[in-house]
Amino acid sequence: MTSQSRNETAAADDALVDKKTLHESTSCWAKTPRISVRHFAKLPSRTCDILIVGSGISGALMAEHLCDGKRDVMMVDRRPPVRGSSLDSTAMIQHEIDVPLHVLARKIGEENAMRAWRRSRDAVRSLVELVDNLDIDCSLEAKRTLYLAGDDLGPRALKTEARLREKAGIDARLLDGASTGSEFGIDRPASIVSRDSASANPAQMTAGLIRAAQARGLKVVSPIEIADVMPVGDHVACATSDGQLIVARHVVFCSGYEFLKRLESPRHSIISTWAIAAKPRSAVPDWLREFLVWEASDPYLYLRMAKDGSIIAGGEDEDAPEAFDDPEKLKDKTNRIVTKIEKLLGVKLYPPHSRWAAPFGNTTTGLPFIGPVPGLKNVHAVMGFGGNGITFSKIAAEIIKAEISGRTDRDADLFRFPA
Ligand SMILES: Cc1cc2nc3c(=O)[nH]c(=O)nc-3n(C[C@H](O)[C@H](O)[C@H](O)COP(=O)(O)OP(=O)(O)OC[C@H]3O[C@@H](n4cnc5c(N)ncnc54)[C@H](O)[C@@H]3O)c2cc1C
Repeated sequence: MTSQSRNETAAADDALVDKKTLHESTSCWAKTPRISVRHFAKLPSRTCDILIVGSGISGALMAEHLCDGKRDVMMVDRRPPVRGSSLDSTAMIQHEIDVPLHVLARKIGEENAMRAWRRSRDAVRSLVELVDNLDIDCSLEAKRTLYLAGDDLGPRALKTEARLREKAGIDARLLDGASTGSEFGIDRPASIVSRDSASANPAQMTAGLIRAAQARGLKVVSPIEIADVMPVGDHVACATSDGQLIVARHVVFCSGYEFLKRLESPRHSIISTWAIAAKPRSAVPDWLREFLVWEASDPYLYLRMAKDGSIIAGGEDEDAPEAFDDPEKLKDKTNRIVTKIEKLLGVKLYPPHSRWAAPFGNTTTGLPFIGPVPGLKNVHAVMGFGGNGITFSKIAAEIIKAEISGRTDRDADLFRFPA
């Protein structure tokens, strides 16, 4: 190792966040309109009430919730706005958490699991309402979900799952194999149909939320990288990588998979995932426009239809965090996704017009981590990991807004960072 690379390694070990490549190839949303956000190239001021680090969906919802015309809120990003993982999202906005309710109940207790699932359902409902009220043009559609039995959960487990969801007051209709076949033309031994999901163009939604916050005073600055944070009395001093200092009363890290290194834990990990967008070349079933589809299998497949008729789908996850960066895997895995869709739905697809791969955050419970960063006064962080990253960003904005306003959200305990 040369002394220069040793120095770089030492510098990387000391880094505040783990810098990553966030995509291999670009998602279909990168070519859509209305995803740019007006921003300052230089810091307009060195102080603010709240500094938000990150301009993805977590930062956007945080800003929308915190900008009330009274607080001075600034958002910084080391990339151009809306160019992190939120640009890669397949944006199935589900309340159904990756870890099924009856499995989560075994991990964190039935009451807590039901509370987490209900909160997730409420977050989808309030996100749809918010985007509607703000009139954000992002192809937002309320949808139902079809959850298919697979090699992870069979008909018996789905029956247990549907019962517990019913007990929790969460909509779930269990279908046996015959009904799954007659209603959806899909050959699976069982499925669950539920309401309270949605889909959208995630980049347009993020940019629209940021613009709404800008109308209430948010300042967006890019490129600015936060390299260090230090609480000083009731304030937090943030050093930028180009040697400037920003002093804020509160700092909220919405830095996605480039999370604060001090929050590393065996309870979450970064894996790799793949996705496609492809136009059908044969008729697709009518119901598909109104549904998100996912399956209880490993690796799993999930899919939905976008407003332009493209099928957006993903899966084939691999535990290796760098696997997404391999162009051969991009081709193989995305071809496999296409084959699985064609078999499941009995349709033919054109070759994908977009194929992309990205790192993806997972947690052992499927729940996000949200809250004060242990040991750093007035510093908060959001790690909305898992397949519900967008839904979790809404919950995070609600919890952190309460915290900054001196209140405690009723569900904050479910999502706190381990001390
Ligand atoms: C392929 C794929 C499919 C997905 N599908 C779904 C789905 O269907 N439904 C769903 O709900 N979720 C899905 N997700 C997850 C969801 O997209 C993410 O949880 C969400 O986009 C993360 O948003 P974020 O704002 O936290 O992160 P990002 O969008 O990555 O934003 C974080 C920003 O912080 C900036 N940043 C980091 N560190 C610093 C620093 N030190 N200084 C300044 N700036 C910094 C980065 O540059 C970045 O722009 C998917 C993710 C992937 C990759």
